Amino acid sequence: MKPIAFAALFTTLAAASVAHADGAAPVKLWRLDCGTIQVNNLDLFSDTFAYAGKKRQLTDSCYLIQHGADYMLWDTGLPAGLKGAAMSPDAPLSPTLTKTIDEQLAALKVDPKQIAQVGISHYHFDHTGQAADFPQAKLLIGKADFEALKTEPVPFGADPKALAHWLKDGAPSEQVIGDKDIYGDGSVTMLSMPGHTPGSYALLVRLAKKGPVLLSGDIVHFEEQFKANGVPSFNTNRAESLASMDRMQKIAKALKATLVVQHDANDIGKLPAFPASAE
Ligand SMILES: [Zn+2]
Repeated sequence: MKPIAFAALFTTLAAASVAHADGAAPVKLWRLDCGTIQVNNLDLFSDTFAYAGKKRQLTDSCYLIQHGADYMLWDTGLPAGLKGAAMSPDAPLSPTLTKTIDEQLAALKVDPKQIAQVGISHYHFDHTGQAADFPQAKLLIGKADFEALKTEPVPFGADPKALAHWLKDGAPSEQVIGDKDIYGDGSVTMLSMPGHTPGSYALLVRLAKKGPVLLSGDIVHFEEQFKANGVPSFNTNRAESLASMDRMQKIAKALKATLVVQHDANDIGKLPAFPASAE
């Protein structure tokens, strides 16, 4: 490498590290309510019969991130059509919604058109439900999940129609391989954690005051799964699932991060209650 090119590279790296250290672009994180799922057959969430005969209520959360003037969503929850749906006492999975993302953005005075990027942890219907409400946004999704949505039969739990705008119509998307530093300053990073689906991701958000926050995607659905090595029977790869659970716990420990399991109702209190944000 020529000395001048090397100097330019060094300057670029130095600028990136300074921007990170100073938190030059302020970052805020809001937890949005994107639904509730009554699980009447929790046995689905272990392939070793650890939860046979048990029930559990899962929360369905999604997140708004502000980075400088840019807004990004992480996951888009259950479909808006489920608003007000009655919960079934015996269906294996019974989802419902009380507020749409648009309604929560309105409370924050954020226009849905301001959402520049939609990051999707994985292709399941309870994470992609309202994505079509943000057609101007660039979609960020694991390449393996994006490709799986085009296959027949449709993968378990997926609704390709929710992302048809990007899948069929070719709207701007980035199919992510490996980890992805979204803003180039280390503040918001998609972490590759396959196993639940082929292209599953978690999201690391580094906040100036709160510190690092690790949003789990569906690497687990509730905290106890870490201890029990609870791998849902519908995961696409058991070995990758266990490796991703291990990676998630080690990252949380190394960074002393706040680990928010997105479906665990007990983790809701780890972030400020809407409309407050973590900073
Ligand atoms: Zn899932």
